[in-house]
Amino acid sequence: MNAADPNEILDDEAALQLDANGNLRHLLTLKGLDRALLTDILDDAEGYLTAPGDLPARSQSLAGRTVGNLFFEPSTRTRASFDLAGKRLGADVLNLDVNTSSRKKGESILDTIYTLQAMHVDIMVVRDASDGVPAYIARHVQPHVSILNAGESDVSHPTQGLLDVLTIRQHKGAFENLTIAIVGDIRHSRVAMSATHALTTLGVGDLRLISPPVLAPDADKVPGAHIVDNLAEGIADADVVMALRIQRERIGNLDGIPGIDEYFANYGVSHDSMKLARPDAIVMHPGPMNRGIEIEGSLADGSQSVITQQVTNGVAVRMAVLDRVGKTMAAR
Ligand code: ASP
Repeated sequence: MNAADPNEILDDEAALQLDANGNLRHLLTLKGLDRALLTDILDDAEGYLTAPGDLPARSQSLAGRTVGNLFFEPSTRTRASFDLAGKRLGADVLNLDVNTSSRKKGESILDTIYTLQAMHVDIMVVRDASDGVPAYIARHVQPHVSILNAGESDVSHPTQGLLDVLTIRQHKGAFENLTIAIVGDIRHSRVAMSATHALTTLGVGDLRLISPPVLAPDADKVPGAHIVDNLAEGIADADVVMALRIQRERIGNLDGIPGIDEYFANYGVSHDSMKLARPDAIVMHPGPMNRGIEIEGSLADGSQSVITQQVTNGVAVRMAVLDRVGKTMAAR
């Protein structure tokens, strides 16, 4: 294998996720997971949804297992939902406080992982600002340990991709005839990458990635998607519009990035810009939202918005993934 070829590295990463029987062992990327497996995970997640006001779904499928949350970047939704998902499946959940962890004292990530592994942490949920960290850890842990990517640099965020496609499926059914517009800082967005991986595998009709040219992705990273720099053109007749935050923490030099007013005027998802989409279009956002920059606040709170449903689905999807890797572990 030519280790310098990023596509081959990704293929290798995709292969690393499945055991010899094709069962999910790690979740590192949605790239390379086939349609049947994605659909099965979405179906499982549906089974964990209950009506508002009813008690959340629970099982004991992970009783005796320990889930460790290792978030080396900030998180609200992903971390809270992995915590709840693990507990609702009966696991012990360890939320490592990275600010007081030994990694701050110079301990390597692998030494931190080996320490947790020695304490029987069987499933490690990892978020990190560097490329390749989840796969690197997955290559080094003991055979029974699972690694779940909870956000990797600007590369991927697979459980977010799953909750996004679940939300779209709930509202729109089959993916083939859909026009989906993702608007914002596509270049630095792991959310856009994982959504693209899932949507193209699921056969989406027309996927448009809309951003100012300075925030556009490299075309070879998003095969199957259309890169568009004009919001009106990109959003026209869309069934789904997803707004994304500018990832300022990943942009070294902000020169050339439009100011807030200019950005909102040209790329803001607003009541005005939504007039160009289909009348029944849904509005999505992975959070955290910057109201008045990438999305108009009243639109985010309005009847087309499915943003809180995305959050609800996030817990269900994470339960489905945890349960699945737990079953792979039990079958060893
Ligand atoms: N919460 C998402 C992520 O971790 C989106 C964002 O931060 O803008 O990538």
